[in-house]
Amino acid sequence: MRRSNLVDRCAVCDCNTVYVQKDFNRTLGVSIFLAGAALFLICAWKNRLVEGTLVWAVFVVADGLLYKFLPDVTICYKCYTQYRQVTPNPDNQPFELGLAEKYDPLDKRASAENPAAEWKGR
Ligand SMILES: [Zn+2]
Repeated sequence: MRRSNLVDRCAVCDCNTVYVQKDFNRTLGVSIFLAGAALFLICAWKNRLVEGTLVWAVFVVADGLLYKFLPDVTICYKCYTQYRQVTPNPDNQPFELGLAEKYDPLDKRASAENPAAEWKGR
């Protein structure tokens, strides 16, 4: 029995291939990293390297935990629609470049409208 909010195909373009990735806020991640680095530098400047290293370690662990508990976001290969707050689908795979090329409509159109490709094949 399937849950109704489980995403295994795109509701927008009916593409049946989606991928999952961490819904990671890059700015937040970088901010935490920079705050830790700044505190470490202040401690180093005050000649407190042990405390500085501990503070740095705490920030690194906090960053790692944040990443670990971040929700997944499911994204459509074709139209890049993002699905949040959905039941994680164990069938969904992380992003694959090969699949992205396969479902990229720009790529498809380019090969279809390229007469040289067909001419070359004859
Ligand atoms: Zn889509």
